[in-house]
Amino acid sequence: MAVNIQYLKGVGPKRASRLRKLNINTVEDLMYFIPRDYDDRSKFKTLRECMIGEKVSLEVEIIGKANILRPRRNLSIIKIPVKDSSHNAYLVWFNQEYLKDKFIVGEKIIVNGKINKVGMEIQIMSPVFEKSGTMNKVGRITPIYSLTEGLTNNEIMKIIDYSIKEYINQIREFLPQEIIDKYDLMDIKDAIINVHFPMNSVLLEKARKRLSFQELLTLQMGLFIIKNRNFTNNKGIRFNKTVEINDFIQKLPFELTNSQIKVFKEIEADMENDIQMNRLVQGDVGSGKTIIAVLAMFKAISSGYQAVMMAPTEILASQHFESIKKFFLGYNIRTELLVGSIPPKAKEEILLDLKEGRIDVLIGTHAVIQENVEFNRLGLAITDEQHRFGVKQRAILSHKGNNPDVIVMTATPIPRTLALILYGDLDVSIIDELPPGRKEIETYAVGPEMIERINNFIRKQILESRQAYIVCPLIEESETLTVNAAEELYKDFKDNIFKEFKVGLLHGKMKPKEKDLVMEEFKNHKIDILVSTTVIEVGVNVPNSNIMVIYNAERFGLAQLHQLRGRVGRGEHQSYCILINESNNQISRERMRVLQNSTDGFKISEKDLELRGPGEFFGTRQHGLPELKVANLFTDMDILKVAQKEAINIVNQDPNLELEKYRELKKKIQEMFSNLGEYSTFN
Ligand code: ADP
Ligand code: MG
Repeated sequence: MAVNIQYLKGVGPKRASRLRKLNINTVEDLMYFIPRDYDDRSKFKTLRECMIGEKVSLEVEIIGKANILRPRRNLSIIKIPVKDSSHNAYLVWFNQEYLKDKFIVGEKIIVNGKINKVGMEIQIMSPVFEKSGTMNKVGRITPIYSLTEGLTNNEIMKIIDYSIKEYINQIREFLPQEIIDKYDLMDIKDAIINVHFPMNSVLLEKARKRLSFQELLTLQMGLFIIKNRNFTNNKGIRFNKTVEINDFIQKLPFELTNSQIKVFKEIEADMENDIQMNRLVQGDVGSGKTIIAVLAMFKAISSGYQAVMMAPTEILASQHFESIKKFFLGYNIRTELLVGSIPPKAKEEILLDLKEGRIDVLIGTHAVIQENVEFNRLGLAITDEQHRFGVKQRAILSHKGNNPDVIVMTATPIPRTLALILYGDLDVSIIDELPPGRKEIETYAVGPEMIERINNFIRKQILESRQAYIVCPLIEESETLTVNAAEELYKDFKDNIFKEFKVGLLHGKMKPKEKDLVMEEFKNHKIDILVSTTVIEVGVNVPNSNIMVIYNAERFGLAQLHQLRGRVGRGEHQSYCILINESNNQISRERMRVLQNSTDGFKISEKDLELRGPGEFFGTRQHGLPELKVANLFTDMDILKVAQKEAINIVNQDPNLELEKYRELKKKIQEMFSNLGEYSTFN
């Protein structure tokens, strides 16, 4: 069905290029261009039943000639008198005089528009209309599409309508009949027709259900197959039982929490058997995940293997490098850092030493999964802050060795169903306890009118030798605008408000070297106030900094705010997090309150899901997964559960989908994952 849309009747090159902007290239793309919403015009009312402000469909009779008013230059109002069995009314349009000759007195038409009342007069505002009995645009549930410039909803409707009429018979069923029967799914052709042009809401629901199901099943199966191929039943390394580890733990500057001990025991058991470990370590900000990674690395090295740890930013990688090096001090362990900004010569040396086994631990950013990075005996691959990476990167990292054990770490708690999607079926370990002696961070949600008082508070704290983070509003869709906002605030602080202090700036468009320098200065207290974008979101550790102020906090996800807040409260001083909420919106206020009242990351992220849906974080694209066109991971949770159950069934029965009945499904999965390239689903 790869018919190019350009050759579709009524499309041509110009429209085709506009459609391409919507990611529509083929007729099939058109059919799967699912309406973002629907306008239910199928319910007819009489005028007497209507409420003011309501949008309704009505059948009315034209009872007089058009009335044209011109109250101002550039404004004409056309009014056409109509009636139904219950009342008289006017159809009203602005600046559309050409409509005056469209109607014949006595003619019956169907209209859909918003009801307005002026004095005693009932008006139907800017209605769409058609002759009675045609039932095309008006008397049904109308699809509403996401638009792009130069394409109207009507045009898209027509193009889709045409492509369905012409090509629907070429769409082939790809779900096995037994599954269709088992879940009473709508036939695929009917589903496509009804998702665009539903005859009623029941059929629409069935159509959506069918399409969501097929999409979630395809996605989940693909992920299971990747997982099977990369991990399951893979013979892994059997690491030695090590006694040295106990000595190592004894010498740590702190005592492990019970949670940390439990999680490390789970990892130890995995490492000592010969099945490849594939484990997610989930623990709230500050719960101490890094030391778990260090212990696992120590164990791998003791058995003569190398270990690698990948972090999402240079700042975080360098920080890990510094602290991990310290833990290994006094042991014969060589740790190196590999990030983009390392000079070529030094890099070359690292790469060579790594390949020849002279480096034990490599810590870095995406740089560690570049093609030229080769290990000598990689035994353990760790990804920190997993939510910043995709499936593909994780797979590449583990392919750097011969079935190395894998640990991924995340501070973001995820409901089980979503974890199955985002992480396949990793085993999960949870650190559910914070190290002792942490002071609870005081959190305040305030309005922008409090900014001056906040600044005075910051001043006072800085005079007591503390430091502050100021996080700038995230401006959707535009990195540049976000950076501009940060720069502006920075200037204002530096030149006016806090000119007696040292103010620093950190954002994603700075060169890695510049970023490191600023971070280093902040760490060494050469900077008092650090204005930044969310680049400081993950992992950065500056214990003397005890204030976190977040501008336009309403624009962030709660889980993200919680992460940001986790940058403070790391030292001996009482810490504060101030959320500046610039929205009066009820949900915003409620979201801020959640953060004010809770420090439990799991509760916070569940609440966030409840209040605003899966949003950014749970978007598939962010995880490097194929984009979903129909299904919504949150609202379609029930369908997801069923699809997951079925996916497990099928994969257990036929892991490589070799049975004839799965042939078409297999093709679909391959199609969906084709952009994952060599790490895609099938060999
Ligand atoms: P996260 O889970 O957010 O990655 P980190 O591993 O960065 O947390 O740990 C946060 C801080 O807590 C670090 O300074 C670390 O050294 C310290 N820490 C970790 N475990 C313990 C512990 N059991 N007792 C005291 N401090 C600890
Ligand atoms: Mg961490």
